[in-house]
Amino acid sequence: MLGSMMDWPLLCTKILDHAAAQHPKRTILTRSVEGPLHTTDYATLRRRSLQCAKRLEKHGIRLGDRVATLAWNTWRHMEVWYGLLGLGAIYHTVNPRLFHEQIAWIVNDAEDRLLFVDLTFLPVIEKLIGHMPTLEQVIVLTDAAHMPATTLKNAVDYESWLAEADDDFAWKSFDENTAAGLCYTSGTTGNPKGVVYSHRSNVIHAWQAATPDMIGPSCRDVIMPVVPMFHANCWSIAFTAPLTGAALVLPGARLDGPAIYETLEVGKVSITAAVPTVWLMLLQHMESKNLRLSHLKRVVIGGAACPRAITEKFEKTYDVRVAHAWGMTEMSPLGTLCGLKPETASLDIEGRLDLQVKQGVPPFGVEMKITDDAGNERPQDGRAFGRLKVRGPAIAGGYFKGMGKDAFDPDGFFDTGDVATIDADGYMQITDRSKDVIKSGGEWISTIDLENLAISHPDVMEAAVIGVHHPKWDERPLLVIVPKAGRTPTRDEILAHYEGRIAKWWMPDDVVFIEEIPHTATGKIQKMTLRERFKDYKLPGV
Ligand code: AMP
Repeated sequence: MLGSMMDWPLLCTKILDHAAAQHPKRTILTRSVEGPLHTTDYATLRRRSLQCAKRLEKHGIRLGDRVATLAWNTWRHMEVWYGLLGLGAIYHTVNPRLFHEQIAWIVNDAEDRLLFVDLTFLPVIEKLIGHMPTLEQVIVLTDAAHMPATTLKNAVDYESWLAEADDDFAWKSFDENTAAGLCYTSGTTGNPKGVVYSHRSNVIHAWQAATPDMIGPSCRDVIMPVVPMFHANCWSIAFTAPLTGAALVLPGARLDGPAIYETLEVGKVSITAAVPTVWLMLLQHMESKNLRLSHLKRVVIGGAACPRAITEKFEKTYDVRVAHAWGMTEMSPLGTLCGLKPETASLDIEGRLDLQVKQGVPPFGVEMKITDDAGNERPQDGRAFGRLKVRGPAIAGGYFKGMGKDAFDPDGFFDTGDVATIDADGYMQITDRSKDVIKSGGEWISTIDLENLAISHPDVMEAAVIGVHHPKWDERPLLVIVPKAGRTPTRDEILAHYEGRIAKWWMPDDVVFIEEIPHTATGKIQKMTLRERFKDYKLPGV
């Protein structure tokens, strides 16, 4: 017997319908790419998204077509997402920080028909256009007054293009499993793989993200995704904000410490989200200028491990709660978030800061296990390491064009490529990417633990630990440090900082000081580049 409830397909456009009906005047404030602040609201966003859908249809965009965006977080970028979603076409976010050849490669792989591009990236596209034959037109996300001269043949500014349709349009309806978005993961080997979100997975994921122990905004919050829309589906915020009715602040093109500080203050932001490197920049700016935060209550930090020192600074100095989150492009992307359970709620501040180094617990809809290489489950005792595997309705069950089939086990769990522990209370902690873990004498050393400790030294700006060849132990840890401006810590001072805090055999064999640590397109430390640079490094005593 079937239930007798309505068949109400989980379509992304229903989220915007809800926001426009229940929260029509809630604002969306953007620091525009052109410079000035721009304000709109959910009712207007919906109206212009309908207009965008109609204009896209006029161009001939249909169900299943892919359309690329190379753009910052702005209201126009949101309109394009929802416009495409309203036709059953697919928003393909391209990460502008990728190498140019990779940008062309993924646009070709996706067979994108149109490209919406911000002014910032126009020069890149002018260079690459000859290598992207599927693109029929480039639309520049600006108005006629700001449209620059361009070598692109039929490029047009967004506002003039949009004005060629009115907003008398109804969203198309289709199956909730229809593809909605496409985002490529930049694996370190081989070509990038496309993750294809569906309407259903996006809606379920936004609901998960809206629960109180996840991002959990309410309609009284103002949320600013510093995390770009091109990084892992904007961590769901382009859906979770309208789903909950939270006001939005979109930071546009300027993501440096001073700009973020100003936008947080001007926008009266209560919740924000980004990778740790962004917060390092903000904290450094606030420290140097002796600034305070007037409105911020909560900061979601993920995409890379959040060191205790960052959490401590936010919580103790600025009275802002940190939510350490872990996820992946393949997981829509939220997997876990480190909040308090009744079991941990009575911890004092130091205990809580220790706990928050962990990546936390999954919401309903994310099943998690750790296994050995043979696939046998490992104990959840907070000590046993294992390959972290996940399963759920907003987790990729495969990749675009059938790539990456070997990432799934016979029970349908996806192997995240991360190594983790899970403790008795269910808190997961990432110890490494499986390819970064250091194997010393057959035992594993967690580079993330060592990096987190290094960052807590007052003279250290950023730290990375890599394995370097050792004739006896196979690999030993080398600590790479970027000192804070004007500070000159020594090797011995840094190593003394580890005394009594780690097992003796985890102690880095040496310390090198460099000016800058390389980062990937999504703000992670580029360990491959560091390993290459230090591959012939001679450790002391070898
Ligand atoms: P991406 O798909 O680019 O977001 O990358 C996902 C990967 O980033 C994960 O598999 C982890 O290796 C890493 N990652 C994300 N969040 C965290 C975190 N909080 N701590 C440690 N690693 C993280």
